Amino acid sequence: MTQIYNFSAGPAVLPKEVLQQAASEMLDWHGCGMSVMEMSHRGPEFISIYRQAEADLRELLAVPANYKILFLQGGGLGENAVVPLNLVGRVSQPATIDFVHSGSWSGKSIEEAKRYANVNVAASGAPAPFTAVPAEETWQLTPGAAYLHLCTNETIDGVEYNFVPTVQGDTPIVADMSSHILSRVIDVSQYGVIFAGAQKNIGPAGLTLVIVREDLLDHALPICPSSFNWRNVADADSMFNTPPTYAIYIAGLVFAHLKKRGGVAAMEAINIEKARLLYAALDADGFYENRVALANRSRMNVPFYLRDESKNEAFLAGAKARGLLQLKGHKSVGGMRASIYNAMPIEGVQALVDYLNEFAGR
Ligand SMILES: *Cc1c(COP(=O)(O)O)cnc(C)c1O
Repeated sequence: MTQIYNFSAGPAVLPKEVLQQAASEMLDWHGCGMSVMEMSHRGPEFISIYRQAEADLRELLAVPANYKILFLQGGGLGENAVVPLNLVGRVSQPATIDFVHSGSWSGKSIEEAKRYANVNVAASGAPAPFTAVPAEETWQLTPGAAYLHLCTNETIDGVEYNFVPTVQGDTPIVADMSSHILSRVIDVSQYGVIFAGAQKNIGPAGLTLVIVREDLLDHALPICPSSFNWRNVADADSMFNTPPTYAIYIAGLVFAHLKKRGGVAAMEAINIEKARLLYAALDADGFYENRVALANRSRMNVPFYLRDESKNEAFLAGAKARGLLQLKGHKSVGGMRASIYNAMPIEGVQALVDYLNEFAGR
């Protein structure tokens, strides 16, 4: 097989060892004669897969005992509706939700939430291009808000939080961590809800993780679909309806793989080094440009531009010829983007850096 490096923002690269294990178990999981895809979600085989995945994720993120881990569907965008449907009811109506608009994904969250509550944009980096997290001292938070929503890593804009804000009163923080969960050590207890679509840094598309503090399970609006009501899902151990079983299995293999590599702290150290290498090459002279404030440069998604955009096509063609794939930037911002998730080895980043230097004629 040709060696390639896949810089896609999502669905994205997975650890080769995980794919090899999944391939070897495809037809016959642990001698049971069935593929994981063919198992009942209520049978002992799948229950054991699910329990192990849940326990490993809990260990990797040190999820406190008073938090539930839910394995849902609907993606990050689905959660933009599921979160208000579950949390708007925790305050008297009409409720207000606070948002910080730090990029494309928090922007989408704001638009969706308007269907369910008043929305207060407490701070905004708009208009695009988004290049920094608005300074915390400028945030205009609402006392008694149903919750404060943040996108802690803006996948399209490459803007990542380097702090956890302080909130007044008991307003919970809801964090969309779709594109950087498990890439750095976090303190789960600082959040009320963490959610993440799996297809960036965890596993296949179709699985959405929700980590939710127990006291936030019981506020769903009557119109909330039963299968998205967190209380129902939590009480049924994510089996209220059929969960995305194969995606949970692959996510479980990824969690076990991360544990073997030393856990999240070990991954963070490698991710810091990968990002350092890549940004150094982009900053070396004026040939390339990343426009994000230094403190908010994402370690996972690195958008960049060639100063001479007429060279874009040649750049992408040369990259492809070297097996450096999916580097084209998101259509809304143009340019290039290298996503360097946990599963991107440092050798892949080095190969990209070598190409950046070569293309720039250094
Ligand atoms: C990809 C992404 C989403 C959307 O995920 P879908 O699974 O496509 O709904 C939401 N938020 C962030 C931060 C993302 O990176």
